[in-house]
Amino acid sequence: MIEFRNAAKSYGNVVALRDFSAIVPSRTITVLMGLSGSGKTTAIRMVNKMVLPTGGQVLIDGVDVATLDAVPLRRSIGYVMQDVGLLPHKTVLQNVVLIAVIAGQTRDDAEHNARTMLSLVGIDPASFDRFPSQLSGGQQQRVGVARALATKPNILLMDEPFGAVDPIVREELQVELCRIQRELSLTILFVTHDRTEALNIADQIIVMSDAGNIEQSGSPQELTAEPANDFVRKILGL
Ligand code: ADP
Ligand code: MG
Repeated sequence: MIEFRNAAKSYGNVVALRDFSAIVPSRTITVLMGLSGSGKTTAIRMVNKMVLPTGGQVLIDGVDVATLDAVPLRRSIGYVMQDVGLLPHKTVLQNVVLIAVIAGQTRDDAEHNARTMLSLVGIDPASFDRFPSQLSGGQQQRVGVARALATKPNILLMDEPFGAVDPIVREELQVELCRIQRELSLTILFVTHDRTEALNIADQIIVMSDAGNIEQSGSPQELTAEPANDFVRKILGL
């Protein structure tokens, strides 16, 4: 379980998160939804200490991440962004193996895990030796997910990962993400501003307005049946 406890972040005069408290239950998909600038990226990056709070805490299974070393923490948490950032001169397989080796796996283990994860995300073994530029955007995003899973994390942070993918492929990726979540019992914290995506994948949706103010949280069914206010109605297109 991930817990945000009055988490706050200011950049000078800009308040990115004012007082954000939320619980991300283990082995579920929680979606942070909000307009651009509402603090979603700030919140998600607090979990692996890419952003340090200026107030409050983030806890993983009751442990304040402030007390944990950033490097092993980041290795224990998968992170996927819209810009996949695969190394262009390494093959698909090498891209995934490299991360596992850096995390301390032996070459053999790393290669075994990389092949397993690439297959799990639906990359054909025939593509393992291709270079990223030879894959479609959707396939590159799958490799990004495989890479994030190569260190066998329990937690996966995903920041608008499918934003650059066309709608049909995007829906396929959503379906597969749900399958992978179940197969690996992952705790996923997923950021999107796309209502269809949120409703498709979420166990829980947290709707944020400015500075991470929570307008409502609950299951997709709860939010669509009883939106708390006009903001929620509008962002969910109800
Ligand atoms: P979102 O991901 O919801 O679009 P962000 O968390 O990226 O929102 O940003 C929240 C607010 O914090 C925005 O006003 C943004 O401009 C500001 N912000 C984010 N990162 C920085 C930074 N490194 N320096 C200054 N301001 C920042
Ligand atoms: Mg963002």
